[in-house]
Amino acid sequence: MYNTKQICLGQKTKIHLNNAQKSYLDYLFRITRLAKNYAVEQFNQTHDTRIFNDPYQLSEQFLKQNKNIIKDLTTFPIFIIQSVFLDMQIQIKELLKNTTVEKLRLYPKKDIHFPSLKFAPSHFQIVNKKDSKKDYVLIKGLKHPIKLSTKLRFKNSHIISITFKKRAGVYMLGMRIKLDEKDRKIIIKKYEKKNNHAIGIDLGIKETMTLSNGITIRYPCPYETNKNKISIINKKISAKRFVAIKNKTPRSNNIRKLELKLAKLSLHITNIRLNYIHKITTILVRHFDYIAMENLDVLELFQNRIIARKLGDVSFYETFRQLIYKTKLAEKIFYQVDRYFPSTKKCARCGHIKKKMPLSERTYYCENCHLIINRDHNAAINIKWRMIEDIGCLPSKFTLVDFQNLQLDLKKNNVYSKKLKQETDMSHLKSDNKFGRRCGLYKFGCLK
Ligand SMILES: [Zn+2]
Repeated sequence: MYNTKQICLGQKTKIHLNNAQKSYLDYLFRITRLAKNYAVEQFNQTHDTRIFNDPYQLSEQFLKQNKNIIKDLTTFPIFIIQSVFLDMQIQIKELLKNTTVEKLRLYPKKDIHFPSLKFAPSHFQIVNKKDSKKDYVLIKGLKHPIKLSTKLRFKNSHIISITFKKRAGVYMLGMRIKLDEKDRKIIIKKYEKKNNHAIGIDLGIKETMTLSNGITIRYPCPYETNKNKISIINKKISAKRFVAIKNKTPRSNNIRKLELKLAKLSLHITNIRLNYIHKITTILVRHFDYIAMENLDVLELFQNRIIARKLGDVSFYETFRQLIYKTKLAEKIFYQVDRYFPSTKKCARCGHIKKKMPLSERTYYCENCHLIINRDHNAAINIKWRMIEDIGCLPSKFTLVDFQNLQLDLKKNNVYSKKLKQETDMSHLKSDNKFGRRCGLYKFGCLK
């Protein structure tokens, strides 16, 4: 049976704070910044990662030194400092794997990005008020519980830890949840029952996602639309900074206000992107049991400057990540075709492999069987069939009703999708269908 012990999910919500709660959280943020800087200083002095071997002792040392800053030691959640050192140990070891570092940078005093606060289960409590529809969290050191802006997704599951974050002036709460069997069944229901459908996905930059059944999905590219706004704010900031450096004055409040504005805008952009990717991946997992994708080397693609900007806007990695965990939750299969499989050069009908296929050619023409097809569509079909050969599964036919259901679902969720024009030469297909039969494309309704 499926091992539920390994499944941990997260939930992130905004929180509503009163003034006392705000100032208490800000005070904790300040102390975590101090703790982080303490760890950085210790490392810079000794250049030894062994100082992090005992984070509990290090946190005690830190508390001894900063006795007068901490208001009340009895109610102070010490775990937040211990977790800072635990995280630092992992981060620095990861950093030293590839590079040699002489000095680490300290956290600046007034910054927009604050370090996060992590609470262990012994320091917080979930409160459900009877007359309220919202859920609340009570943390050690506070009198009144904090109101969450959304309800808890999983009522029966156990919350392992909570993390407070402050990004661009917005307070957020992240929860790490160990999934219960009851809650898992509810999630599986959301993804509907199994239908044995298979799909191949080709990721491209122009039509961002091409499915093997001929649907293309476009991403909104929020960075591209907000590019002008960002550059205007950046210009203002750099002009003000230039004046400040010239007059040898510290950063003014006006600069900080502009920086906050910029941070808010970039938070907005990431939220749009994430929301969209969540919609697409959920729909895909809902409609297909077998999902195949090419294993792209994203780092290599980032070398090209023009492509890199677009790639960052599309966030392929996030698409991968979500598909992997969602298929795992719904007990479906996500297959990554290996990088060196010639998906764009291969003909989807006869299997003929072209020698050259430059990026400028948008349609695929096969010299062997005279197939004319959209370049990405051809690749998506190849990826799908590669998965079927490798896994050895027999997917069921994707009927017209299934196709319409998928289109309806995409439309309902406001996903920009369209059906590719059938560029295949139909008369050729009919007269020459022995090629089609060979790779079984007709049987499963890939090429109509
Ligand atoms: Zn061909």
